[in-house]
Amino acid sequence: MTTVAKQPLVLGIDAGGTMTDTFIVFNDGTFVIGKAATTPHDEAVGFMESVEDALSYTDATDRAQLFKDLEVALYAGTTMLNTLLSRTGQRLGLIITKGFEDTLLHGRGMQSWAEYSYPDRLHAATHVHPSPLIPKACIRGITERIDQFGKIAIPLYEHEVEAAAQELLQQKVEGFCICFLMSYVNNQHELRAQEIVQAVLDQAGTQLPIFLSSTVRPVMREGSRLNSTVVEAYAAAPVRRHLHKIEDVIHEQGFRNPLQTILSYGGLANIRYPRLHETLISGPVGGMLGAQYVGEIIGATNVVVSDLGGTSFDIGAITSGRAPINGEPTLARFKFNLPTIDLESIGAGAGTIVKVDPHTGKVELGPESAGSSPGPVCFDMGGTRATICDCDLLLGYLNPDNFLGGKVRLKPDLALEAVREQITDLLGVDIYDGAEGVVRLLETEAREALRRTVSARGFDVSEYYLMAYGGAGPLHVAGYSRGLGFTGVLTFPYAAAFSAFGCTTADYMHRYERSLHLDVPADADDAHKEQVAAAIDQAWNELAQTASEDMEQEGRDISRLRLVPFAMIRYAGQLTDVEVVSPQPRLENARGLERLLADWESEYERINRRVSRYAQAGFTVFELGMLAMIPKVKPQITRQPLLGREPARTARRGERRIYWEGRWSEASVWDMEALLPGNEVVGPAVIEHPATTFLLPPDHYTVLDEWNIFHLHATEAH
Ligand code: AMP
Ligand code: MG
Repeated sequence: MTTVAKQPLVLGIDAGGTMTDTFIVFNDGTFVIGKAATTPHDEAVGFMESVEDALSYTDATDRAQLFKDLEVALYAGTTMLNTLLSRTGQRLGLIITKGFEDTLLHGRGMQSWAEYSYPDRLHAATHVHPSPLIPKACIRGITERIDQFGKIAIPLYEHEVEAAAQELLQQKVEGFCICFLMSYVNNQHELRAQEIVQAVLDQAGTQLPIFLSSTVRPVMREGSRLNSTVVEAYAAAPVRRHLHKIEDVIHEQGFRNPLQTILSYGGLANIRYPRLHETLISGPVGGMLGAQYVGEIIGATNVVVSDLGGTSFDIGAITSGRAPINGEPTLARFKFNLPTIDLESIGAGAGTIVKVDPHTGKVELGPESAGSSPGPVCFDMGGTRATICDCDLLLGYLNPDNFLGGKVRLKPDLALEAVREQITDLLGVDIYDGAEGVVRLLETEAREALRRTVSARGFDVSEYYLMAYGGAGPLHVAGYSRGLGFTGVLTFPYAAAFSAFGCTTADYMHRYERSLHLDVPADADDAHKEQVAAAIDQAWNELAQTASEDMEQEGRDISRLRLVPFAMIRYAGQLTDVEVVSPQPRLENARGLERLLADWESEYERINRRVSRYAQAGFTVFELGMLAMIPKVKPQITRQPLLGREPARTARRGERRIYWEGRWSEASVWDMEALLPGNEVVGPAVIEHPATTFLLPPDHYTVLDEWNIFHLHATEAH
């Protein structure tokens, strides 16, 4: 990147499984990126190294000045996910409606089989139930029942709550969760139970956090509501401490504001946000936000995104400028009712370990990855199993002296030995043919996943652009996009930190939801519609109130608050909702309700385009919500003048051989940051960046457009 002399405004960090990426936005909208290995023992170390790396590409700012100048610092990562996966969270006690003590233990069938490979699903003998976050010994059932209309059917047996709290305290729990079956309609019993637990704590002279399901997520579906409550207590609480540590570090450096993080539905939130479990998959969400942002600027509204990193291949689709939200995702083998930008992930990345079955000769990829430590064999840091990265090196795709800008020196001889022993000798094939076969296999898996993502939505690939990013996205995109027929294939000079970039495009945004149950029969009269409209308006008013209180508490400028009310509706008798944004701030009357339902029906028709409308069934409103947004500064993607097709001579680094389709060819090698808008590079070529590598096989070429985006083209139809 060219050197810059201006004020930095936004710092985005994405601490991934392998690498920690930095993205710094300056006041004129320009930016720099940095990358360093993630340091799981103390993430602040990798974070600072990554920031230093970014700063080494500017001459204007030293670290102290950077943090003094910054307005926004935000941190996305996978710590919370890892806390869940490794079961290293808080020790909790659970107080739940009697008869539901095992809800957490048996979970849902869906989550128990989630993330299992196809062979493991077939052979149920290998199935292992996920271990529960709270052991049975720490769960107590309480007699109480509220009916579906919110009326008390059985009063709360207060002495049982008291006894439970005392027993759990003796078991040395570090926090309490309270979840009663119908608390989303009436939270009176949960509130009372909280008072009782608090009294027990006061008596014992200890302070422990208490989490109520009606506070964390006041919606129907007790299994998912319980998961949200327990995960908030179990994993979000320790992660919050960790984020505070990062915040302390940057405050010591002179940063003035609170640290922000990214919610799974794409907004920024202060790390003090009370429902931090909503940031469970913050990193990949950043990528979707970035793609949406770039797409809007350059006029690409249908985009398939693909992030190929060291450990996984993440894909998502943006249709008509919108990223679809999944209301009930399965994350880390938990079913949540946590609105999450819909993403799919396959466990195949550039660090994926390659296995060959010695008897059948079948090649299998992963799902294990060598990560950053010990890493692939060619890192020479103790890794012994051959990976995709080792194959990439042998085939000439990676420059051994340019990995992380030369900070990691790759060893081709070690890669060669490992690939020969573990792969090609077993297959009885030529070492380079075998290595290429393995790489093409990874690309085929990625390609099939892309095809599925698009066709599952009923759209044609030719209506979409493909964006490729992640450190290894540009390296394999020619292979994995081959023959799919996208409108265009795009990648970026900042591909290696694209998710961190995406995080910096986010606005402050929170989403609030509440379940209720309002029927609008097909023949409803105006009086009934007025009643429903009033109930909806009242719920929206309450949600708006909470939203502005939260934003104010986070120190935001409330005068810029934008509130978007929405509703989740279904035709009566259906099992799932479709979400629609209200066409007006409040419904006011029967006509307002009719307009909302009309908008909902067009949305329904748009999604299920082969399915007819069915208003005769009547409608049910099951959930209402409020999106609260306050804008913030963003990186600028600006149009630049197009220069000639011929790159500057200084952009040329030399030549090296690459292996493609069974033969070696002499590829030209280029410095990615020295290429300018309008320049064209014809394959076979390798375009190098300190943190990523763009491979152009023979019969491919790329043009850098006026937005500084690479377009990949194949010269002949594959
Ligand atoms: P990520 O997990 O997104 O940081 O991607 C890491 C992957 O990027 C590595 O496994 C490499 O295969 C790929 N890569 C390509 N070029 C480079 C480079 N110059 N430095 C580091 N990683 C690179
Ligand atoms: Mg990554």
